[in-house]
Amino acid sequence: MALDLDAIYTDLHRHPELSFQETRTAGVIAQRLTELGIEFEEGIGRTGLAAVIRNDDADDGERGPVVWLRADMDGLPVEERTGLAYASTARGVDPQGLDVPVMHACGHDMHVTALLGALERLVATTDEWRGTVVAVFQPAEEYGAGSQAMIADGVLDRFPRPDIVLGQHVTPLPAGTIGVRPGTQMAASDGLRVTLLGRGGHGSRPQATIDPVVMAAATVMRLQTVVSRETDPRDVAVVTVGSIHAGLKNNIIPAEAVLELSLRYPDDEARARVLEKVERIVRAEAQASGAEEEPVIKVDHSLPPTINDEEATARLRAAFARAFGDEKVVDPGMFTGSEDVSWFAREAGVPLVFWFWGGVDPQVYADAAASGSIERDIPTNHSPFFAPLLQPTLDNGVANLVTAAREFLAAR
Ligand SMILES: [Zn+2]
Ligand SMILES: [Zn+2]
Repeated sequence: MALDLDAIYTDLHRHPELSFQETRTAGVIAQRLTELGIEFEEGIGRTGLAAVIRNDDADDGERGPVVWLRADMDGLPVEERTGLAYASTARGVDPQGLDVPVMHACGHDMHVTALLGALERLVATTDEWRGTVVAVFQPAEEYGAGSQAMIADGVLDRFPRPDIVLGQHVTPLPAGTIGVRPGTQMAASDGLRVTLLGRGGHGSRPQATIDPVVMAAATVMRLQTVVSRETDPRDVAVVTVGSIHAGLKNNIIPAEAVLELSLRYPDDEARARVLEKVERIVRAEAQASGAEEEPVIKVDHSLPPTINDEEATARLRAAFARAFGDEKVVDPGMFTGSEDVSWFAREAGVPLVFWFWGGVDPQVYADAAASGSIERDIPTNHSPFFAPLLQPTLDNGVANLVTAAREFLAAR
């Protein structure tokens, strides 16, 4: 019986799970893989799965290409406000132990469902292609930790090693559009946790304290100059302070403040430059505040740039153009978002191609473009309003994966 992809998608959308907690999601995937008769293993990198379709001819012993298709599975701590009939009301417990709302605000439910649909089609057409397809359902992309967890758990040894790694992400482009470029497709990124150490005391006697709240405020403002004053305007760099925590009560000056930073850059050189500047400013502001202890700067996670192989990207771009029309395939420029998909390809020493596909009603997109309000009116990934148009986005996602896989598999 054919998979009801719309139903799988809306079910996953209703039941998002936080990073490394994707157990229900993994269960849904396992059930569907079983129905399709596809061999798989669960619990790789905690909650990940990998599945394999072996379609070489047993008699001649010749091995065809091994194509890895990757989908990520996790949701985000976002309260959904899309108003969709299948909107999530799920809650979860984050790593700090807090009860938080959970939403598939990045579209990973679309990635999972599209990959299941692609596997269904590849299984049904084994008489047309030769080689091996490995499907990787990866946990915890949003922590930038899931692919490394699967690698540490031996996914590259437990399954046929890839000749190429392919993946896709749904994005606010018009439905029907595919965005892909050779070279750097997504930025490198680091998550930094900065603890500013002051001296706590009574709110009425600031002279007896070293106030980490003021230190944090000054640091946040000064960090803005890393990009605005110290980076070549032609270069790409992002310094975002996404979280700031200090204190519990108005009349207590706390002892410390914690900042969480997200840094983005296109390459390792820019990374070293920005990290040096951030560290210099954090230490100098602490010193300016008279801090007696050095701030503690910790890199929480670090993601490499997502670099598309030039030759494989050109080949895939041509395949997409043949399948969907040349005008449908665009160069979206480099995205300042980051991904951990490239670890699989880096670790295996093989090419990667990662592309974006549109999930916005083309008319809505055209109207927003005409009124110059795309940034305001088209919700992006991680927004509480992010709601990919179910169809044709889902069918397009399936077709993209099948087209891409078939391009790199051998024909019969
Ligand atoms: Zn995301
Ligand atoms: Zn994502």
